Amino acid sequence: MSRPYVTPPQAAPDGPTFPELRSIYRRLLTRFGPQHWWPGDTPLEICVGAILTQNTAWTNVEKAIANLRRADLLDIQRLAATPDAELAEHIRPSGYFNLKARRLKGLVGFLLNHSGGDLPALFAEPLATLRPRLLQVYGVGPETADSILLYAGGKATFVVDAYTIRIFTRLGMAPEGVAYHAMQAIFMSRMPPDVKLFNEYHALLVALGKDFCRPRRPRCGACPLEDICVAAGATAHEER
Ligand code: SF4
Repeated sequence: MSRPYVTPPQAAPDGPTFPELRSIYRRLLTRFGPQHWWPGDTPLEICVGAILTQNTAWTNVEKAIANLRRADLLDIQRLAATPDAELAEHIRPSGYFNLKARRLKGLVGFLLNHSGGDLPALFAEPLATLRPRLLQVYGVGPETADSILLYAGGKATFVVDAYTIRIFTRLGMAPEGVAYHAMQAIFMSRMPPDVKLFNEYHALLVALGKDFCRPRRPRCGACPLEDICVAAGATAHEER
């Protein structure tokens, strides 16, 4: 049975309001500027990158994608025809390479079965039905599915990641241990379904989470959200 697309039609009773979300976005955009995401040249490269970036830094993904490009494997049919072990060698820099080779094969198998490998045809399907289908693909969880749908497919779905959850928990705008879809609903029930906005907002949260709102020793003194954050300065070894 397919999993439902979980986006509540109305806002949860607590959490940030739309003006607060918009204000946070503006502050981040003013501070960091447009992020020009996703870092991938084609929709297929974005799909491949969404699998390879699981549990690793993007710099490792870049090396794996460069290997695939050198081997002329950034092609759905050729990826599908490549034995798992050979594919794993090409993507070794991304870590968990045997697992990710199987996941990549699962994804390209889906792309072939669903639309004959025609990505524009795939993304012509409505979000509400395509997302549950993607979530049934081996190795594709909500974050990977939403990354593919937003960045490769141009669908208005908000990508949540560990940065998003850490930042909004610390801001006091999401409860500790908030689940993926509950966090996603905070954005999607309050903001217009705007692909460009969702794209940029996610990228800006990554910028903040990577360099300022770090797991340990967050740089609150230099953070553009310091004055609205309930956790600001709560860490003993804060850096400026
Ligand atoms: S003020 Fe500190 S804890 Fe709050 S969002 Fe910024 S870096 Fe994170």
